[in-house]
Amino acid sequence: MIKINEIFFSIQGESLLAGKPTVFVRTATCNLRCTWCDTKYSYWEGSVMTVPQILEKVKSFGAKYVCLTGGEPLGQKGSIELMRALLAENYTVSLETNGSFSIKEVPLDVVKVVDVKCPDSGESESMAWENLSLVRPHDQFKFVVASKADFDWALKVCRDHSLEEKCHILYSPVHGKVKPQELAHWILDSKAPVTMQIQLHKEIWGPNERGV
Ligand code: SF4
Repeated sequence: MIKINEIFFSIQGESLLAGKPTVFVRTATCNLRCTWCDTKYSYWEGSVMTVPQILEKVKSFGAKYVCLTGGEPLGQKGSIELMRALLAENYTVSLETNGSFSIKEVPLDVVKVVDVKCPDSGESESMAWENLSLVRPHDQFKFVVASKADFDWALKVCRDHSLEEKCHILYSPVHGKVKPQELAHWILDSKAPVTMQIQLHKEIWGPNERGV
């Protein structure tokens, strides 16, 4: 059983899978409270579903890609069972997680997009640092940057832990806090081997649209 906030079909807006038509399974509840969180509605709203019920709903969209997101999926034990069930149905499965839970139990074939919370989020102390050594090459660490200080902190974490040797590194600006062009300049000036991304779904549907 998993408390689900929403299930919808849209264009993947983040990660190296950006642009793919994807079914999103958004779990309800989150253990963190990031200052810039844009899915606060997921903290409380939702209803309990079984894994077969979720699978049936996912199948109805006829898609190939499924993204488990939140809220925080790893805050609910049923998420592991759900990911196994989706892989068994031959979906390409990705997991967006806030980094505060160990990814040890996540099936290896799942593409894990693991946040490393920068200081301006107010949650940088929440990181489960063991995750730095649990990723596979297809996984991605994501730094959401709200200021130049966040950017400098992210660079230091990447360098101190040689993160670019472990998997892909994504830097993304907080909408309304850092302009994409500013972040692009910082990345180019630093010559960091990272991938810049913007939240594509906000460009397509608008910044406040839900279920897209
Ligand atoms: S981890 Fe995600 S859902 Fe939770 S507070 Fe932070 S941004 Fe919001």
